[in-house]
Amino acid sequence: MVAVPEPVRTTAKEIYAWYEQQKEEHREHLGASQIGHQCDRYLWYVFRWVNLPTFNGRLLRLFGTGKREEPRVYEELRGIGVELHTEDSGKQIECRDASGHFGGSIDGIGRGFPEAPKTWAILEVKTHGSKSYHEVASKGVETAKPQHYAQMQTYMGLMNVERALYFAVNKDTDEIYVEWVHYNEADAKALQTRATYIIARSTPPERLSADPANWVCKMCDFYKTCHHGGWPEANCRTCSHSTPIENGKWTCSLLVGTIDASWQRVGCKDHVFIPPLVPATPVDGGVNYVEYEAKDGTTFKNGPGHTLSASLSNSTKATKLKRKAIGDNNGVPFDDEIPF
Ligand code: SF4
Ligand code: SF4
Repeated sequence: MVAVPEPVRTTAKEIYAWYEQQKEEHREHLGASQIGHQCDRYLWYVFRWVNLPTFNGRLLRLFGTGKREEPRVYEELRGIGVELHTEDSGKQIECRDASGHFGGSIDGIGRGFPEAPKTWAILEVKTHGSKSYHEVASKGVETAKPQHYAQMQTYMGLMNVERALYFAVNKDTDEIYVEWVHYNEADAKALQTRATYIIARSTPPERLSADPANWVCKMCDFYKTCHHGGWPEANCRTCSHSTPIENGKWTCSLLVGTIDASWQRVGCKDHVFIPPLVPATPVDGGVNYVEYEAKDGTTFKNGPGHTLSASLSNSTKATKLKRKAIGDNNGVPFDDEIPF
């Protein structure tokens, strides 16, 4: 007899698959939520769109669960009399530094909180599993969740607000932990200095660890590219010709002009990888190309009119698909072939 598939499992799988089909894109700016990460190179890889992390459907659903908690918290805070401004009041509250490349979107800003009714405070809502929740409730956010602390210091610095309210929810029990975080000018300035350094660098900064067995590295979205010779994506941010400029914009030294985000996601046929991103040793170079020696001793050239190893073919294919998706990119035609 033919086995009848379990309908519940099929439904769950299809839902996970539906999440996986949703289009994910690189973030244009360096996020305040990331700036507290231990590794400078990680931040640079994020900002330079080296790889887009992929998550399974279950994890994507879990991220959505955290987001869905926010409106409930807003309702509760308004219910106890807090004057709260959030994205549901009309538009997202965005903040950027002077360069326009660093910042984020704030969950909310409000006053009338029972602990300090007259004080305006940034609101940061985070959901936690039980273990993480109890850690933050017992040690405080600065110690238990330094990335969340860095995020709030950045927001306070950019918004010129002296307090933040960290609102933690235990996903397993619905318990609430609230902590007031005070602005620390030295911390906020150090975070801004770090962001400025990452944005200004044209090559990857030092690794957190040269040891691939390091546990932070093993958990890192860029583990393969950073430690095991994985290939970066081909887009403008991994190209030697791109530079971040003022007002959150980017320029291309070949096109001699600014390149918008949709263009950056696709790149052009003149793309040349930033050499340290190529998993091989540079041995020579010429007009608009770099020659590399691979581990097996073979050489190849990267640049317009040259070929790369076959390992880039997937990236090339993805680039073509992306090109198709955005049409002719504001009237500028693309070549059908990308002659890497
Ligand atoms: S793998 Fe390690 S060194 Fe490389 S970016 Fe990630 S955390 Fe940094
Ligand atoms: S040369 Fe092409 S891929 Fe490189 S930055 Fe300019 S437009 Fe982007």
